[in-house]
Amino acid sequence: MTQRRLFVTTALPYANGNFHIGHIMEYIQADIWVRYQRMKGEEVHFVCADDAHGAPIMIAAEKAGITPQAFVANIAAGRKPYLDGFNIAFDNWHSTDVPENHALAQDIYRSLRDAGLIATKTIEQFFDPEKNMFLPDRFIKGECPKCGAKDQYGDSCESCGAVYAPTELKNPYSALSGATPVMKTSEHYFFKLSDPRCVAFLEAWTHTEGHLQPEVLNKIKEWFSTSADGSGGLSDWDISRDAPYFGIEIPDAPGKYFYVWLDAPIGYLASLKNHFSKIGGDFDAFMADPATEQHHFIGKDITYFHTLFWPAMLHFSGRKTPNAVHVHGFLTVSGEKMSKSRGTGLDPLKYLNLGMNPDWLRYYIAAKLNGRNEDVDFNAEDFMARVNSDLVGKFVNIASRTAGFLNKRFAGQLGAIGADDKALLDGLQAALLPISAMYESLDYARALREIMAQTDRVNEYVAHHKPWELAKQPDAEARLQAVCTTSIEAFRLLSIALKPVMPALTIGVESFLQVTPFKFSDLATTLGAGHTIGAYQHLMQRVEATQLDALFEAAAPAVDAVPAALPGGEALAAPITIDDFAKVDLRIAHIVNCEPVEGSSKLLRLTLDVGEATTRNVFSGIASAYQPADLVGKYTLMVANLAPRKMKFGVSEGMVLAASHADEKATPGIYILQAWPGAQPGMRVR
Ligand SMILES: [Zn+2]
Repeated sequence: MTQRRLFVTTALPYANGNFHIGHIMEYIQADIWVRYQRMKGEEVHFVCADDAHGAPIMIAAEKAGITPQAFVANIAAGRKPYLDGFNIAFDNWHSTDVPENHALAQDIYRSLRDAGLIATKTIEQFFDPEKNMFLPDRFIKGECPKCGAKDQYGDSCESCGAVYAPTELKNPYSALSGATPVMKTSEHYFFKLSDPRCVAFLEAWTHTEGHLQPEVLNKIKEWFSTSADGSGGLSDWDISRDAPYFGIEIPDAPGKYFYVWLDAPIGYLASLKNHFSKIGGDFDAFMADPATEQHHFIGKDITYFHTLFWPAMLHFSGRKTPNAVHVHGFLTVSGEKMSKSRGTGLDPLKYLNLGMNPDWLRYYIAAKLNGRNEDVDFNAEDFMARVNSDLVGKFVNIASRTAGFLNKRFAGQLGAIGADDKALLDGLQAALLPISAMYESLDYARALREIMAQTDRVNEYVAHHKPWELAKQPDAEARLQAVCTTSIEAFRLLSIALKPVMPALTIGVESFLQVTPFKFSDLATTLGAGHTIGAYQHLMQRVEATQLDALFEAAAPAVDAVPAALPGGEALAAPITIDDFAKVDLRIAHIVNCEPVEGSSKLLRLTLDVGEATTRNVFSGIASAYQPADLVGKYTLMVANLAPRKMKFGVSEGMVLAASHADEKATPGIYILQAWPGAQPGMRVR
């Protein structure tokens, strides 16, 4: 069989905030598919990037007092803990604000223009006379023309749900300056999606088997349909924005920039090109190869861009078009839709920081994804029940109940098995091989149901043969080894089938079984008598109710509009050099004693061992957050070369470090820093 060559992307997240659980769900969906393809030996290039351009980022950066580039860099710097934490195996993470993307976007535009698919039209638009800029719809507010509700956005009313043009708002004002906007004309550039060539191409592309899910195609058919009077159908797409704009300049059009949605999907190509430049691949040859398959994973809210504009842009610029656009629904939490300002209450980074296992979430989400464009609900009780009963109670239990006997009695060696035992394994293989097609079609829910049904069969086998009783019978040695061998062989087959969903657990299983990384074809094999397994160590903990309580503990109320613009409630300080930083001597300090300070409700007196001949006395304003007993024995960080400071209560010989939000009223809490185990007093932090 020839190896498939796959180019796989997830939607580019907008770089004005951290990931929310909806992003993580999409990455998990795509990552499982990618891992499955890799297990089959296919060539996969899995890339993504930050969507960096557009007015919202430009405006947020201005509010934060930094450049849009710096603003986006701050957001991008926060991506890694999420991606690593949930084991999302992207080959490359890039940005749309990079030379590759500027060049590709301008190339594609020139091709579209040469094909006669770009038109210009003068339009009237609201202009903020104070900020001296045209206002995006979301930055115009006013009274709803239908119900009169105040402070509604320029595109829709949150009170009555009406949709309208910003020019219809009553008493409009600029959300940026408060000024009354004026109407001003401007020449805009349009991609002629209504051109008969585009319509014909898109009719064919969208109807091609495999490109779209049936329910997505049904939705798209509505967009194509025209009424008897000729209205409706595909309309031309406004692809230009006037300066000032954070984006890519339109060639031969001074002061005009591409609307962010034009260059965002081109960022897929830019990231792939960047990836190939790192691995020494030929981007142009790869994309010109008809055998290359291009797969996009997206949410249902951006279907229009990915199933109409994007294929048409690619096709009419002489490029390869997507082989499939996989559309998923939204993630709700306990039935509630996500709010843009409040999120869902399920913060993925908090999940990781609480020490919750990423494989739990991957498993739970996978168990709910069926490859159709349907919403997925996260329910805490259901999550706990599934993880604890399916993964720990059923799956891990097979190994934990049988491996010990092999380790203790047979030096870990697998033995010969009987005809009945073999029948169980044959049945398992016959049942598990077809899940390949379920992974391929993104019906993970069905794959996991099948795997769990087989897990039940194996548990019945173990319960029936009772190795713990065989172990007590003097003449049942061979039978004990056979039953445990069969159980471990079965456990291995189930683990292979689960590998795309649970990469972290799989590493533990592969190490325990002392095997090379599982391939999908391993499902057709067994380890066989004579193979030696390693010592069994517990593979997975149970979810604790206290973890879920902590995860959903109400967050502090949002501080104000655009909180993402200000990390921790304040703009970043001015840049410094590494030499500036080196002036601050940070050391690991062991808190050997801590006591309240009489006469102060704010201060605690810390006695710190910094590896010197004598300890240091430091006062710290953390009494509101910690009891002295909480801190004694902990290792923290201190500024060791801060000049001693005479205070009312004594001399403070340094400063310990703690984190807090700039607005402590809205977001209370002081968090002292703690060193990773192993750090010794006096070690320098650099
Ligand atoms: Zn209204």
